[in-house]
This record gives sequence, C-alpha cells and structure tokens, in this order.
Amino acid sequence: MGVYLDYNASAPINDKVLEKMISVYKNNIGNADSRTHDFGENARIIVEDARKQVAELLGVKSDEVFFTSGATESNNIAFQGLREYAKKTGKKHIITTAIEHKAVLETAKHLENEGYDIDIVKPDISGRVRAEEVISLVREDTLLVSVMHVNNETGIIQPVKELGDQLEDREVLFHIDATQSCGKLVDEIRDLKYDMLSFSAHKLQGPQGIGALILKKKRYKLPPVKNIMYGGQQEHGIRPGTVPVALVAGCGEACKVAKEDYVKNAEIIKRIKQTVIEELNTSNIKYKINGCSDYCVDSTINICIPSVVSEALMLSTKQYCGISNGSACTSKSYSPSYVLKAMGIPDEDIECSIRISWGADSDLEEVRCGVRNMFEVASQIAQ
Ligand code: PMP
Repeated sequence: MGVYLDYNASAPINDKVLEKMISVYKNNIGNADSRTHDFGENARIIVEDARKQVAELLGVKSDEVFFTSGATESNNIAFQGLREYAKKTGKKHIITTAIEHKAVLETAKHLENEGYDIDIVKPDISGRVRAEEVISLVREDTLLVSVMHVNNETGIIQPVKELGDQLEDREVLFHIDATQSCGKLVDEIRDLKYDMLSFSAHKLQGPQGIGALILKKKRYKLPPVKNIMYGGQQEHGIRPGTVPVALVAGCGEACKVAKEDYVKNAEIIKRIKQTVIEELNTSNIKYKINGCSDYCVDSTINICIPSVVSEALMLSTKQYCGISNGSACTSKSYSPSYVLKAMGIPDEDIECSIRISWGADSDLEEVRCGVRNMFEVASQIAQ
C-alpha cells in the first residue's frame, strides 16, 4: 500500500485521541442528556470539556460550539437552517464560489430549486476567488456569503480574512468552511470574522463522523439558524439526536493536541513539502503546479504531469503511495475535477493532475521514498 498521502481526504487518528476515545467507551456509559443519574452527568461533563477544547483551539466561546456529524452536516445547517429567517426578511440571495465542497454547492443548488438566487464566483488560474468580486455581488437581499478557507483539492487559501473584515458591518451572514484549515492555520482562524464556521474532526486527526458548526454571537445573539432535523433538544435544538460522547471526546482531544502542536507541526509539514518539491525537481518529469504556490498551504500540492493520465498513474503506483485526483466525495466515477475546471485549467491538464497531501505525523523518509518511486513511474509513462 506504500505511504498514505491523502490526508485531505481523511487523516489518520492521533494516538492520544484514540486512547481518549477508548477510555470513554470503556468507562463512561450513558447519555449526556440523561438527568436522572450520575452516568449521564459524567457523560455531560465529558461533552462540555470537549466543547471547551474546540472553543480554545478556535478562539471562540464554548456556547458558540455545536457538535454535528461533520462538515457536511454543518454546511447543510448553515445554509438550510436559514430558511425561516429568509422567509421573514425576504432575503433570498446567496453568494458562494465554484470551488466549494459539494456539501456547499449541492445545498446551494437545492435552495436554488426552492427559489433562492445563487451567485457563484469563479477563481482565476491562481485558484483564488477575488474578495472584491464577492463583495461587489452583495445586495440588499443578500442572506449569506459562504467561502471556504482552504480548498481541499488545491490547498489554495481563499481571501476569507478580507471578506470577514468587509462583511462585518453589513447585514449579511458570513459562513466559512474551514474543514481543511482547522487545526493547521490556527492563528489565522482565530483572527477571522465570521458568523458561522464548519469543520470535521477527521481532517485534524480526530475520529470520522464528528465535527462542529461554530455559531458566533453578535451582540449576545446567535445567528438566526434553526435545526434542519427534528427530534430532541440536544445541542440547543440545533442538532437533535443523542450526542456521541466518545466521538465528541475524540474531537475535543484532537483540538487540544492541535492547539499544543500546531507551531511544531507547521515546521514538519513545510519540510515535507520541500522534500516533495525536491523529489519532483530531481526526477525526470516535467510538471506544473496547479494554483499559485504563494497562496498554497504546506500540507498539499496539486500537480499536472503532462501526458501522464492520473488514473493510470494512481493505479500503477498503488504499491508506493495512496494519492488522489480530486475530492473523495466525487470520486465514485471519474469526472474531471470541477475545481481545476473552474480555475480555467484545460481538460487535458486536469486529466493529468494529482493531489498529494500529508500531515505532521507523515514520515519524511517514507514520503520521500513513495513520491520518488511514483515520479519514476510517471517519467516512464511519459516517455
Ligand atoms: N468541506 C471540505 C472543504 C472538505 O474537504 C470536506 C471533506 N472532504 C467536507 C467539507 C466534508 O466533510 P465530511 O465528509 O467529513 O462531512
């Protein structure tokens, strides 16, 4: 199987996180919302500790953290949860970008079918959308602006800082999908202004199936988001259903570990990127980096190796490394990446593009060896 280089799809669980979860599964039975016994109370304490850990990583208050099953659900709540408010205010215009995750784009499409007006901003060849273009589209009836922090396919950082600053005093809600930056661009996220923010724990070495929606208070009031599922009053009614205590504890622990280690991790991640680029440059292959490197995170590289079809490369190098050519969520059947397409990259280059992504626990020498072997195969295919 070789070395795992698909961290943007899902990162391996951190040992401390796993230990925490096993301990909770073994020692803390019960439902965090049970009032009638200490088992419930103990489970509630674990959930509230985890909420605090998430809040501390993100620089928000604990009562602004709402646990969900992950970023897909958080994004859905951020959009669909505004229906009632949209009806009341008559605001039905939404602005988002062509490179968002499908959890945003498909939800926006769904709302469009219900009569919402959706503007979709395209990036340029750098992989970034222009903040001015987004702002220029804001109207009286704009309900929501939703822009991701870091793109999952290219690793390109979007201008969410500028957008947050400019939208702060306007009557528009601002949502950020921070799934790929949470736990990595820690200082940057703490500095952002937004109303809603989504992430999944598994991208920061927590468990799969848990994440959060951050709802930031303005003048002591939460954004006007309502639940989209009906059931109990868990998570203040925003997300009904039994709170998965061990998953929540794992999410909290992943945030705690990220808070402790992010500065050290950034150095390791950077060194790995340098190594991947060194290996690219010493190999025989011609390559192009997709997106502007100045805006790219250090944990991702998306490259085009002309005349080496990515599907063929991935199949013939499976024994060396696990990489991808797009989002796992759209990879059931091959279709050219809509993210690279929106950037204006020609189809023949998209067909030959791969994404390599890693984390601070990746072994540098294993990565070096895996990519070296892969690039060697690519140079043979290219001949
Ligand atoms: N947004 C982004 C930017 C992502 O990368 C992902 C996962 N690929 C999601 C949302 C959805 O996350 P999940 O599948 O954990 O709900």
